This record gives sequence, structure tokens and C-alpha cells, in this order.
Amino acid sequence: MPKASKKRQKQKPAHYSYSNFWSIQAKTGDSWMWKQILKIRNKAQDIFGGTDNLKLKLQSCCRNSKIKVSALYNVISPASSIVTWHNTIWESINILRHSFICWLAVHNRLLTQDRLLNMGIMTVNSCCFCSGHESRDHLFFECAFSKDVWVLVME
Ligand SMILES: [Zn+2]
Repeated sequence: MPKASKKRQKQKPAHYSYSNFWSIQAKTGDSWMWKQILKIRNKAQDIFGGTDNLKLKLQSCCRNSKIKVSALYNVISPASSIVTWHNTIWESINILRHSFICWLAVHNRLLTQDRLLNMGIMTVNSCCFCSGHESRDHLFFECAFSKDVWVLVME
């Protein structure tokens, strides 16, 4: 590795230090990654009602000076309840790929054309089986072609 690029990797933003991490603002010329870290910090401060509360939450996740990831996850994510269809999707005999796709469908996270259109990735929304607009609900419940397939599967 050339000497110049090694030196470049070690550079930190000039205004960086641990003591002012909680109040530092992104500056022009900072790396994209650094700006993202500061954005997440700001979002976390908003969610937890300020820096002091966030620090307390982070400290509650530490054991022997190390952050326990499972504790951090529990702090960040709200407690969820087990839904009645849990075993239908995550049954041990199911193929994991199928379970994951079903889980995405339940949470409306499949990359259907309506979602791709909202993301600006596609410009036209047209079901490839009929003339309807492709969405999760259309593919699973409204599309005439899909209905025919479901009828054949269920026979
Ligand atoms: Zn259709």
C-alpha cells in the first residue's frame, strides 16, 4: 500500500474528539460515513429526549465497559408481542427463504412496483399478469391471475 494512502486512512475530522462527540456538528468536507454517524446520533437524541437520557440508556447496556448488543437492541426496539400467525411463518419445517418472503409480505416490505415507484426506482406500475397496479395486496388478493393460481394450489 502506498505511503500516502496509509496516511489518508488515519485522518479523522479535525474537530473530532470523544469529549465533544455529543455536540459536534457535521462540516463541509467531512466524510459521508461521519455525517451519517452524526445524523444517527441526532436522531437517537431526539428519540430518547436529549443527550443525558441517551447516555443513561447506553450506560444501561454496558457490562464491563462493553456494550451488550442484545441489551442495546431491547432499548432501541419497542417490545413486541407474539402474534397468532408466528408459528405459521416460522415453523421449523418451513423453508427459511419462504418464511422470510412471507414475513416480508406480512410487513408489506416486498419490493413490489408500488414501493419501487415510491422510491423513485421505477416510473411505471403495471402488474405483469394483468393491467392492474402491482402492490402486495394486488398480488396476493386482487389479481385475477393470482386468484386462479391460488385456486389451483388449494385444490
Ligand atoms: Zn395483476
